[in-house]
Amino acid sequence: GLAERLQGTLNKIRGKGKVSEADVKEMMREVRFALLEADVNFKVVKEFITSVKERAVGQEVLKSLTPGQQVIKVVNEELTALMGGEQSKIAVANKPPTIVMMAGLQGAGKTTTTAKLANHLRKKHNRKPLMVAADIYRPAAIKQLETLGKQLDIPVFSMGDQVSPVEITKNALAKAKEEHHDYVLIDTAGRLHVDEDLMKELDDIKALADPDEILLVVDAMTGQDAVNVAESFNERLGITGIVLTKLDGDTRGGAALSVKAVTGTPIKFAGMGEKVDALEPFYPDRMASRILGMGDVLTLIEKAQTNVDEAKAKELERKMRTNELTFDDFLEQLEQVKSMGPLDELLGMLPGAGKMKGMKNIQVDDKQLVHVEAIVKSMTKAEKQDPAIINSSRRRRIAKGSGTSVQEVNRLIKQFSEMKKMMKQMTGMQKGKGKKKGGF
Ligand code: GDP
Ligand code: MG
Repeated sequence: GLAERLQGTLNKIRGKGKVSEADVKEMMREVRFALLEADVNFKVVKEFITSVKERAVGQEVLKSLTPGQQVIKVVNEELTALMGGEQSKIAVANKPPTIVMMAGLQGAGKTTTTAKLANHLRKKHNRKPLMVAADIYRPAAIKQLETLGKQLDIPVFSMGDQVSPVEITKNALAKAKEEHHDYVLIDTAGRLHVDEDLMKELDDIKALADPDEILLVVDAMTGQDAVNVAESFNERLGITGIVLTKLDGDTRGGAALSVKAVTGTPIKFAGMGEKVDALEPFYPDRMASRILGMGDVLTLIEKAQTNVDEAKAKELERKMRTNELTFDDFLEQLEQVKSMGPLDELLGMLPGAGKMKGMKNIQVDDKQLVHVEAIVKSMTKAEKQDPAIINSSRRRRIAKGSGTSVQEVNRLIKQFSEMKKMMKQMTGMQKGKGKKKGGF
């Protein structure tokens, strides 16, 4: 996936303080290869890379403390935007029934999706759909829809294959009004390729039915072809939404990335299998994560984080040396320690710690950490910056606010001030400046 492709580049960035323009360029080269390999339309790829670069090379990233994370975030956000950003819902007519016309090439999944959608509308939206069998050309098409209707117990309107699709649609609409259906789903015919006969027929049905929604059903497995098909249908017919089928297969996501960008029409649903309940609303952010392989990416982000900690450590050392350490720094340190896991586990990882005498007697209490954190968080900004101002009434307030005792607050403040003193001495010693006190 894309994540693995980025790994090498991210590893290189890891040791650096910040990401250079060259780093972003290299990452974007990987992204470009991955997208082209996933069969994304090359124009879409080009625009995508440009917009990511623009954002990623700007200050937003370079001045950021977490460059690797930022780049991935930008890629993820732009992928999401490319696929439409928000989840796009199916139309609802002001005056029922809502008329939905399905369109697409043969084998794309129109008939299956018609049944899935009817099932979805009934189950999730409590609707009363009517399905219309308007594919009179494919021998078993009517039977296929009727079988699905029976299976779901959802009515199917059909007039056999000797009546024109327009005529069938006209009668179906009358029937829908009569029986108070609130959705009419018209399953139409497809062809192996886009041709004028097909478009003419669909146009006629459209003219008669005036659909609220024209859903183009496209097979995600067909990659680049799906995009061309979508473009032709949109130009000739004008579509309002896309259903991407067969996303359960081994598709590389290329179609999902391109169709919205090329047609400007949102993907509304995703077909995730052959069964009638295998239809899901399409969520661009989830698809982006899937394409990125977010699980891996999160690990990468953690790795990229390492350089942040290095920069922070330097700053901390400076503060220790100059005696500027505040409770804010302290809290940050605490959070870092906490993020590493339970304390005794951490100690266990120290080389040779297991062999140390008396090691077993050291009681490591994570609860204590929680108290310490609560105390610091109950301090005001001024108190954290300058603990010297924390008088007894402030101590009482902090104890109350943190759910601890004044003794605990006193102890922490005392420990903190001793720690500061000690750190100043230690860093001084390291620099070879003040060896006056020694003893360590
Ligand atoms: P139509 O010609 O456009 O009406 O396509 P059909 O609805 O007859 O579907 C063609 C084939 O694709 C059938 O075998 C379906 O079971 C299958 N199919 C449709 N949608 C999906 C899907 O989301 N996932 C998978 N795996 N198969 C699907
Ligand atoms: Mg069909």
